[in-house]
Amino acid sequence: MPDSRKPVTTGGSGELLRDQVKSLALTLGFDLAGVAAALPTPETEYLREWLAKGYGGSMQWLERSVEERVDPRRVLDGARSVIAVAMSYAGEGGADRTDVHIARYARGEDYHVVMGDRLRALGWGLEALVGRSVAARSYVDTGPVAERVFASLGGLGWIGKNTCLIHPEWGSYLFLGVVLTDLELAPDEPGKDRCGSCRLCLDACPTGALVSPYRLDARRCIAHATIEDPGPVPMELREGQGGWLFGCDVCQEVCPWNRPGPGGLADPLGLRERLAPRDSWIRPSLEWVLGLGPEDWQAATRHSALRRARHRGLLRNALVVAGNRPDPALRDRLQEHAQGPDPMLAEHARWALARLDAHETAGA
Ligand code: SF4
Repeated sequence: MPDSRKPVTTGGSGELLRDQVKSLALTLGFDLAGVAAALPTPETEYLREWLAKGYGGSMQWLERSVEERVDPRRVLDGARSVIAVAMSYAGEGGADRTDVHIARYARGEDYHVVMGDRLRALGWGLEALVGRSVAARSYVDTGPVAERVFASLGGLGWIGKNTCLIHPEWGSYLFLGVVLTDLELAPDEPGKDRCGSCRLCLDACPTGALVSPYRLDARRCIAHATIEDPGPVPMELREGQGGWLFGCDVCQEVCPWNRPGPGGLADPLGLRERLAPRDSWIRPSLEWVLGLGPEDWQAATRHSALRRARHRGLLRNALVVAGNRPDPALRDRLQEHAQGPDPMLAEHARWALARLDAHETAGA
């Protein structure tokens, strides 16, 4: 696998320019950078089959953008190259099985903002490099582009059996972004799969969402249930949700490529500081979350990726966690929601109260 942190000038105008672009990306604060050709990817058939099986769950927006996702030239007319970048968020770990957790990526400032600023700067920097106007369009989880596929094709790692992009040194706690451009850049060597015979992520998934290696059924995934799906958490997933209030990192926590983390990383542009976990979201108090009103929610999630779950969604998630972490101190809050005006939240609260009753009866 090429070293995506230390571009080597290898000669040839496409290669020279590619290495200059990668150097620019690293200067702008990204940890990894690589280049792939803007062509239809091997992911094409996989995505169609995955959607046909219903594995996309409530993410219908994926189906509406299949043609763009499988061919970046449909996203940017005349695109020739995809510049893929990554930034590590491995800083704060430590979700254990007795706490209330938020997926690591969502504990600090919204990565869309932090990465988006840098990606736009990279797009502008291309023009400075070549001395002419350049067509460029950047995305960080915000458009019809399969970032992890292009990251893998651009040498930033491989897509593991847990379906995350994994770099052999940086692991998988990586924010990914891409810049599509009409610049002709020599592509990097794709990353090589290093999962081998390991299947720790498949065995660890508490809801069996990894139905086979490299195949995730989003309908059984805690991240999908707690973030993407606005409806009730399916009954068969509730116990498996454990203490996950937003998202889930289990398939990454168990991955050997995430141990040990890089640690002690430089932060000349203050980007890691912006992404660092906010105190309130490292191990949030369930009572506090269950008591958040609409205005509190707005204030607590300012510039946070947590907003994707919406206020109602986070309350729903917190009620499931309360059912999995029975605590008599939460009874009043649960009763408030059980008698509240929202039928979905009331049902989740009744479920949590029943679990609390059963817990107290068992302990009596
Ligand atoms: Fe691959 Fe093992 Fe990591 Fe799963 S846990 S992604 S099988 S290395």
